[in-house]
Amino acid sequence: MHDFAQRLIAWQRRHGRHDLPWQTGTDAYAVWVSEIMLQQTRVDTVIPYYRRFLARFPDVAALAGARLDDVLALWSGLGYYARARNLHAAARRILDRHGGVFPRRFEDIRDLPGVGRSTAAAIASLAHGERHAILDGNVRRVFCRLFGVRGWPGERAVEARLWRLAESLLPECDIGAYTQGLMDLGATVCTRHCPRCDTCPFATECVAARQGRQSELPNPRPRKVLPERATVMLVLRHGGEIMLERRPPAGIWGGLWSLPECAVDDDPASAAERLGCQPSAAQPLPTLIHTFTHFRLEIRPWLVAVDRCPVVAESAGRLWLAPDAARQAAVPTPVRRLLAKLAPGDGA
Ligand code: SF4
Repeated sequence: MHDFAQRLIAWQRRHGRHDLPWQTGTDAYAVWVSEIMLQQTRVDTVIPYYRRFLARFPDVAALAGARLDDVLALWSGLGYYARARNLHAAARRILDRHGGVFPRRFEDIRDLPGVGRSTAAAIASLAHGERHAILDGNVRRVFCRLFGVRGWPGERAVEARLWRLAESLLPECDIGAYTQGLMDLGATVCTRHCPRCDTCPFATECVAARQGRQSELPNPRPRKVLPERATVMLVLRHGGEIMLERRPPAGIWGGLWSLPECAVDDDPASAAERLGCQPSAAQPLPTLIHTFTHFRLEIRPWLVAVDRCPVVAESAGRLWLAPDAARQAAVPTPVRRLLAKLAPGDGA
């Protein structure tokens, strides 16, 4: 399709999105924040988070000078928290190595924590008009359907083929409109479920549409049964407050505040005692299931009323907070859901 780029650009100008909050011109910082938020997250979910984030951290210097806890609290609910930690680390690197100015060179953008090849290309093309190919999840889907590419796009050989395709289709100019057009086509027309082929500018040439294989392409990841893990979370309650514990900086929910945990074959009251509490009553709460990309976590919460409790300090990684305040803190989504279900007087 020799005129793919020109047709996509023309379509984007007429039918694409032009009023997303980060489409304000050439502010690379705004584009960067939006691109990181949009990884694995839909536009309508991202918009309110993006607005709050930009209002609080309007530029690199504000983000670099913030406490990680405040960044995580604003991110809380968006998931994939490594993105927020990387954003914060990258802002500090920009301050140190680039004098607080968002880098212009593609290699420097790609070198930032949390920025891969496609994200760097999106920032370089949308903010700086530079000629680089993107290949995010939406674009992979569009290319697989349009050109009938077989195989799971996460597989190395398939991914390499898609990158070659992406490079070969790049226009010489209007790269910003082209990149935005690819994103818009994937997000609004060639959607994962029920693509709107009747409104697609490439319906005549599209392999999937001609062969009725839209639901088959892209080929899914070969099925793998997710391993299961289980944990007990302790809702230690004393005088109307809940104990939160900071998680280690790396790993699942790294750096977030969460509930103390113990093994499923441990006794929750004994686990509370080991934390320096004197439990007076303990009762199980309904189990929660949380699915990560690589395993399923069964959370068995126990509400433990505590008569006496240790003095703790934020700096030592433990806090007592009222449930409302705990829900506002940088806590993982299942913990927030669990806290929301607690009746005000539960176990106090
Ligand atoms: S014709 Fe349908 S399947 Fe093909 S690219 Fe357009 S929306 Fe996607």
